[in-house]
Amino acid sequence: MSKEKALKDLFLDTLKDIYFAEKKILSALPKMAKAAQSSKLKAAFEKHLTETDGHVERLDQVFASIDETPRGKTCDAIMGIIDEGKEVMGDYKGMPALDAGLLAAAQSVEHYEIARYGTLKTWANELGYRDAVKLLDATLKEEKATDSALSQLAETEVNHHAETAKAA
Ligand code: FE
Ligand code: FE
Repeated sequence: MSKEKALKDLFLDTLKDIYFAEKKILSALPKMAKAAQSSKLKAAFEKHLTETDGHVERLDQVFASIDETPRGKTCDAIMGIIDEGKEVMGDYKGMPALDAGLLAAAQSVEHYEIARYGTLKTWANELGYRDAVKLLDATLKEEKATDSALSQLAETEVNHHAETAKAA
C-alpha cells in the first residue's frame, strides 16, 4: 500500500524542486551576464549570482533543520524558463533588443522563485518549522528585491535602448 502523503511530503518535494532550480540558475546566470550588453544589467546578474550561492546554502540549512539530506528533484518548469532565455540569447544576439529579452527571461526566473519560496514559507509556518521559515523568508526577500531592481533597470534604461535600435 502506498504511503499517505501529507503536507510534510509536499514541503520536502517542493524543497527539492527549488534546490534543483537554484543550481540550474547558478549555471545560467554567468552566461546571461556574459551575454548582456548593458554594464548595469551585467552587474545586476553578477550580483544575483553571488546571492544565488547564498540561496543554495540556505536551502542546505533548511534540509538540515528538518533532518533531511539536501537533494534536488528535476524541475521541468525552470528548465523551460531557462531554455526560453537561451532562445532569446541566440535569436537576438547582437541586436538592440537583446538586453530587454534577457532581462525579461531573468524576471520570469525570479517570479518562479518568488512563487516557490512564498509557498514553502507558508507551509513551513503551518508545519511549525521555525528555522525554515526564517531561512526561506530571507531568500524570498532577496528574490523580490532582485525582481524590483530588474523592473527599475528595464524602465530606466534597457527597454528604451531596445526601442531606439542603436547597437551598444
Ligand atoms: Fe534564488
Ligand atoms: Fe533569484
